[in-house]
Amino acid sequence: MANIILLGPPGAGKGTQAKRLVEGRGMVQLSTGDMLREAKTSGSEMGRKVAAVMARGELVTDEIVIGLIQEKLTGHAGGGFIFDGFPRTLAQADALGALLAEMGQSLDAVIEMKVDDAALVARITGRYTCGGCGAVYHDQARPTKVTDVCDECDSTNMVRRADDTEDALRTRLLEYYKKTSPLIGYYHAKGALTSVDGLAEVAVVAAAISKALGAAP
Ligand code: ADP
Ligand code: AMP
Repeated sequence: MANIILLGPPGAGKGTQAKRLVEGRGMVQLSTGDMLREAKTSGSEMGRKVAAVMARGELVTDEIVIGLIQEKLTGHAGGGFIFDGFPRTLAQADALGALLAEMGQSLDAVIEMKVDDAALVARITGRYTCGGCGAVYHDQARPTKVTDVCDECDSTNMVRRADDTEDALRTRLLEYYKKTSPLIGYYHAKGALTSVDGLAEVAVVAAAISKALGAAP
């Protein structure tokens, strides 16, 4: 099955689209942000180490996130991975290339999701997720049908992220433009990049991603 990267700034809609691909195509979402938040909640030593860095909106070290991805890839030989929020640096991109090559897997598409900064602020400050199943909502753009009840799993545990504030978002955007946006050129040069308009409606973005995946299984 195809392996893809969803590349874009915080709030671009990577998680929202990844969940549709999991449901629609049976792909496997690998979100380093989710993995790090799980580590934080579990109270592990690594979780405690990264908590303050994440709260400030800075990037966690390459060593930690590459280790997390490596762990998840082991035992999933079939592929069909959606890399969501990874890689975020050139070192991470190189490590991913090497890990996939070791498994005999390829990277089939890198989807750049373009959204301007003003829209990102509105998206991030209105975001909430279901603590039960991870479904992603937005106060205005995608509210739950019944207030604070998940459309997907009926959980009433709605969660807002500690780093979804305007202050932390400023740092997260700086980190994105400084360290992650060079990956756009990197994957363009490799002939793997497709850019989609992330400002369009969720279903329209999903259709553009499907088109980029083409006949990929
Ligand atoms: P990311 O994973 O890239 O940080 P999310 O998928 O969590 O982004 O989306 C951020 C916020 O924007 C969420 O509240 C989500 O409901 C909303 N959102 C996602 N895609 C769209 C879209 N195409 N149009 C409007 N709002 C969207
Ligand atoms: P996300 O859920 O993708 O918005 O990530 C939330 C936070 O987790 C980021 O602001 C970083 O602090 C950290 N993080 C997630 N993925 C990575 C990564 N690939 N490299 C470094 N830090 C990451």
